[in-house]
Amino acid sequence: MASPLKIRAHHLLCLQGFQGYGYNDAFVEHLRGIVAEIKNHPALLIEVVTTCDAVCAGCPHCQKAECRKDPGAHRLMEMFDLTILKYTGIKPNHIAKAASLLAQINTAFQTRAQRAKICGECQWRPICTWYLDSPTLANASTTDGTLRSVP
Ligand code: SF4
Ligand code: SF4
Repeated sequence: MASPLKIRAHHLLCLQGFQGYGYNDAFVEHLRGIVAEIKNHPALLIEVVTTCDAVCAGCPHCQKAECRKDPGAHRLMEMFDLTILKYTGIKPNHIAKAASLLAQINTAFQTRAQRAKICGECQWRPICTWYLDSPTLANASTTDGTLRSVP
């Protein structure tokens, strides 16, 4: 059996809101590949982590297995991950099918206010459909584990 794909908890949100933007072209292609993999394989096993993951592996800000986007980013990203775990009840290093994890996430974060607990000041909020896709909008959130908004 293939090893589960390591995804840090808050990236289970970000991947759902991916609109084809990223820190550079290579990272965008890297993200596009991961999004497609999850979308096409809802039974894909994912291990939920709170450290640099398969997404970070293609990011120019990942250095020495730490997020160095800004001073303090390493700790801040970990805080995002831990907050997701707190609100969903998912345990660190929990392994489950992608569809099941996405459903858990989207059930726990259904309103804009709930989403803002994670997304805070994130630069991608104006274009991130996971953040924007609150029940107050016509395009209501899904809780069945399907990925939306894949370019
Ligand atoms: S707004 Fe930012 S932190 Fe929130 S899901 Fe989108 S990309 Fe991730
Ligand atoms: S290294 Fe940091 S900025 Fe890059 S994908 Fe990972 S958490 Fe995000």
